[in-house]
Amino acid sequence: MPKNFETAEYRKVIDRIYDEVLPFRGKGKVADYIPALSEVDPRQFGIAIETLAGDTILKGDADTCFSIQSISKIYTLAMVMSHLGEKLWRSVRTEPSGNPFNSLIQLEYEKGIPRNPFINAGALVVTDRLIDIYPHPKEAILDFVRELSGNEDIYYDSRVAKSEREHADRNMALAYFIKSFGNIHNDVDTLIDVYCHQCSIAMSCVDLARSVLFLANRGVNPQDSKQILTESQAKRLGAVMSTCGFYDESGDFAFRVGLPGKSGVGGGIVAYLPEKLAISVWSPELNPFGNSLMGIEALERFTTDIESSIF
Ligand code: GLN
Repeated sequence: MPKNFETAEYRKVIDRIYDEVLPFRGKGKVADYIPALSEVDPRQFGIAIETLAGDTILKGDADTCFSIQSISKIYTLAMVMSHLGEKLWRSVRTEPSGNPFNSLIQLEYEKGIPRNPFINAGALVVTDRLIDIYPHPKEAILDFVRELSGNEDIYYDSRVAKSEREHADRNMALAYFIKSFGNIHNDVDTLIDVYCHQCSIAMSCVDLARSVLFLANRGVNPQDSKQILTESQAKRLGAVMSTCGFYDESGDFAFRVGLPGKSGVGGGIVAYLPEKLAISVWSPELNPFGNSLMGIEALERFTTDIESSIF
């Protein structure tokens, strides 16, 4: 039987895991294909837990803001799902791709319908729909993230956005290619501008953990009781996180950690245990799949130690 953990026990688990994972420092590689990301101090490491009971447990650099990158795909997907409902799934599928996050390879034979909303191709389609829906998409995304995390100070890091915009050839190629099949509606420059901004959002582990508590709580934000997604939509979002949140390492993440989660090339990961808690880990050094190396080590130890996962 899984144990019913109290705050003090989570505290002990996190302290232990932190020490166990520190020796992995130096074994990964900070992303450098977006130059601004390579300037971050690779030695940082933070963990934050937010429980549905209202407790916060922090360790290391849990309060430091970093570039959330692809974790932003959770927020844009939630926004678009809440407007389009089931219609969205005609334009993007819900199947793991088994390919790297920025791959073009499946798009041609699958006629511009991306495999899932978390690879870049799918996220671009989702952001394109968001631009259809919101007259001021960049403001709307920031408002949504601030609301979910309860932190009005969350911002776009304009240096990161500019750096990504200047190195966006691959994302531009993806967008033009999908547009050739009619599955992107808006001007590609506008789309890439919004996409680079959403990826540049700067948040801490605490902000990230708080921002997904609604998923652990059947779609309702426990901080203000607002229904963000229906229960069924929250299930769908969690299912896509569980099967596609870590690109071609998604199966391995399920195998080792067993939580719905999402990573970003800034080295952040956010995950949640339904009905219980959300956890975020950040360390900038990545493994070859573009996921935080120490982050996955820490999360694997976490679910092992607390003897709980979704499986
Ligand atoms: N902004 C990054 C990109 O589009 C996000 C990728 C990621 O975090 N995996 O390449």
